[in-house]
Amino acid sequence: MSKTSKTDQPGFTTQIVHADQHFGVEHGGIHKPIHTSVQYGYDRVEDLIGVFQGTLKGGYNYARQGTPTTAALESKITQMEQGIGTVSFATGMAAITATFLTLLKAGDHLVCSQFVFGNTNSLLGTLKDLGIGVTTVDATHADKVAAAIQPSTRMVFVETIANPGTQVPDLSAIGKLCADRGLVYVVDNTITSPFLFRPSSVQASLVINSLTKTIAGHGSALGGAVTDTGLYNWDSYPNIFANYRKGDARQWGLQQIRKKGLRDMGGTLSSEHAHQISVGAETLSLRVTQSSATALSLARFLEDHKAVDRVYYPMLASHPQHAIAKQHFSAGSWLLSFELGDEAAALAFINRLKLPVVATGLGDTRTLIIPVAPTIFWEAGAQVRAAMGIADGLIRLSVGLEESPDLLGDFEQALG
Ligand SMILES: *Cc1c(COP(=O)(O)O)cnc(C)c1O
Repeated sequence: MSKTSKTDQPGFTTQIVHADQHFGVEHGGIHKPIHTSVQYGYDRVEDLIGVFQGTLKGGYNYARQGTPTTAALESKITQMEQGIGTVSFATGMAAITATFLTLLKAGDHLVCSQFVFGNTNSLLGTLKDLGIGVTTVDATHADKVAAAIQPSTRMVFVETIANPGTQVPDLSAIGKLCADRGLVYVVDNTITSPFLFRPSSVQASLVINSLTKTIAGHGSALGGAVTDTGLYNWDSYPNIFANYRKGDARQWGLQQIRKKGLRDMGGTLSSEHAHQISVGAETLSLRVTQSSATALSLARFLEDHKAVDRVYYPMLASHPQHAIAKQHFSAGSWLLSFELGDEAAALAFINRLKLPVVATGLGDTRTLIIPVAPTIFWEAGAQVRAAMGIADGLIRLSVGLEESPDLLGDFEQALG
């Protein structure tokens, strides 16, 4: 359970499994149905006008801007993150792209952690081409973030646990810095999920979750979300269009992200996938508790094994940001990396394993394993790999739901 939760509230899973009931139960069905209608009709034309003008609460317009099924999922994520609202997207990348493109414009500046998801890093190049300045920094040190801030800086972006190196930024110091300077603080919570960490506890303004990974957990549906924690004062943000500067100022940011990111850019999550993600979300705490415990056992086992050169896992005392991880995360997540000799040794080891699936991707029910240098960091080239500390023998593991003794036994036999 996230350390920020109040003891007088129902538990994390108690809240999530009953979330659908707050939406009006249709025909007594206790799970929110999949609404596939693209159009929404009204008896009175005044009601349709009310939907367009935002005066009819809970009304639907056209499915590109959301459906009752995506709304139910958004409400669950808002509850998990203890935020004030959520906009869902077709993928995590669509959520990140919409956040950047709807809130930043040419001449603005973004400070981004240098340890981010590869496709997020690639997207930064697109922002630069559009005239948005970007500085990447080692965000494990808040002073490096502070030093990168310019008069035109509007936003700071970090990930809670970076993949594959498991770096953890100085989350609360950066939060304080952003609050002091009036910057939008965006935290990608994909690896930790709201069960292990609530970014609102470090003053994040917006939280990104790739729903594809930890929250859905089954590897059967893509999705993404942006949640507003309610902590940022959008009244003072210069890039909110006049049209969205109406009503409760706390909603202005999300209003713009929904209108521009869904209605105009169209990165909409389908109701079918929203439903699958909702079903997965109900078991989030159970899955993450088990996979984090297994990952910690594996990390300890690998760290003690003489064939293994290095293990990267935030809950090991040897991890450079162990103190920060321990302070903020209730467990270390399912992401684990380790170095095993040169590339040939790493590949031979992977081939000796019987249980993990040799596959890219993260956050599945099955344990996934991949050698990092010749796959996801191949295109980057040897120089970039060296600069990022990606050794030739680096192996990334996404720990699944297999029983811990089964995985430990398999690793033991494969290490020989
Ligand atoms: C996978 C991932 C994303 C992108 O999510 P998709 O749903 O695959 O588009 C973003 N951030 C992080 C940290 C991720 O691991």
